[in-house]
Amino acid sequence: MFSLGQKRIALISVHGDPAVEIGKEEAGGQNVYVRNVGEALACQGWQVDMFTRRANAEQPAIVEHSSNCRTIRLTAGPQEFVPRDEIFDYAPEFVQALLNFQQQLNYQYPLVHTNYWISSWVGMELKKRQPRLKQVHTYHSLGAVKYKSVPTIPMIARTRLAVEKNVLETADRIVATSPQEKEHMRSLVSSQGQIDVIPCGTDIRRFGSIDRSEARQILGIAPDTKVVLYVGRFDPRKGIETAVRAFGQSALQDQANMLLIIGGGSRPGQSDGLERERIEEIVQELDLQDITRFPGRLGDQDLPIYYAAADVCVVPSHYEPFGLVAIEAMACQTPVIASDVGGLQFTVLHEQTGLLVPPKDDAAFALAIDRVLLNEPWRDQLGQTARQRVETQFSWNGVASQLSNLYSQLLEEKAVKKELAQVS
Ligand code: UDP
Repeated sequence: MFSLGQKRIALISVHGDPAVEIGKEEAGGQNVYVRNVGEALACQGWQVDMFTRRANAEQPAIVEHSSNCRTIRLTAGPQEFVPRDEIFDYAPEFVQALLNFQQQLNYQYPLVHTNYWISSWVGMELKKRQPRLKQVHTYHSLGAVKYKSVPTIPMIARTRLAVEKNVLETADRIVATSPQEKEHMRSLVSSQGQIDVIPCGTDIRRFGSIDRSEARQILGIAPDTKVVLYVGRFDPRKGIETAVRAFGQSALQDQANMLLIIGGGSRPGQSDGLERERIEEIVQELDLQDITRFPGRLGDQDLPIYYAAADVCVVPSHYEPFGLVAIEAMACQTPVIASDVGGLQFTVLHEQTGLLVPPKDDAAFALAIDRVLLNEPWRDQLGQTARQRVETQFSWNGVASQLSNLYSQLLEEKAVKKELAQVS
């Protein structure tokens, strides 16, 4: 058995800072995942150090989230925003900075949980220097899936695909967040390596803390207005265009209705801004500007109110390994109309907690939106089943317990091996 002192572990998220204020920065599911998993693991007795790259000289180097959980920002490359595809250039510096940190601490982490392919490389490099180190990896996105759907393949693609194959075959355990993601790893990356399915989670107290009528009062939305909601980054792969065009085609156009598009449009020069402009143009083209609102990026104080106020939440992504937005909406008893792809096929139960429709199919989304909006009792029933599903399957505490068991199992294996080596 390992002692309590050995329960200090590292979560590595080179890009995707777990300490950023999620409503303010260009951040997505990975930031939310690492932060919440880290905090929940700390509540379950682990000492959690979460490592990320410092992307701004004004950011503090260390952020304490609780007595057992902190974010440590390492200097690797310029202390400024670097596009994701260029961060890998600084990964060797990141490894060195982490080794230096360990030296100062006079401690070697027995286990690292790496997030996204850049961090997986960091983990594999650490393992070369510390062969007994255990590595758990979560992809968050698979290059092999992503590159099938983008018009131009970036220079970094070959490196990324090779790293993703290597980590699948060598990590002590891969965590797929949905059975669909696991299937993609097997069919597109490698048949070797050990994969466990442990989903993402959500804060089931925060999401679901308010009901529809109260939420609408706060937001000043009339009870009879039909509200369609999108939440997420402004990225063409998120399919916001499909949501807008479907909303434009909905049979409910002559009734009071509203499309809320939340997220994006943060700092100039970031990809978010371009997509937001494109979406705004489509809204104008379809003459929907009077009934479409862009509240911008919101934090988790406000998000539960918007989710609860909506009649449906649309998740029109072209692909999604998991898709946190779907379970956040479900936790707020709002049915989800999602693309029939990836992790959304796992979280959204068709005809039970929402509807699954072919991605990029405006007409199918429009039809699905109408079906739910025109049948309030069914909408409520879908919402209730959705909430139950999230409570039983997708709470952060439940997710962290599963990860905690996995880490313990890996560390115990390590301790047993060490004992056997001493005996022989
Ligand atoms: N999000 C947020 N504020 C916004 C828009 C999004 O906090 O204005 C959060 C959202 O609540 C979710 C995450 O960003 O937790 C997006 O995660 P998801 O897995 O849906 O997509 P990803 O960004 O990872 O592709």
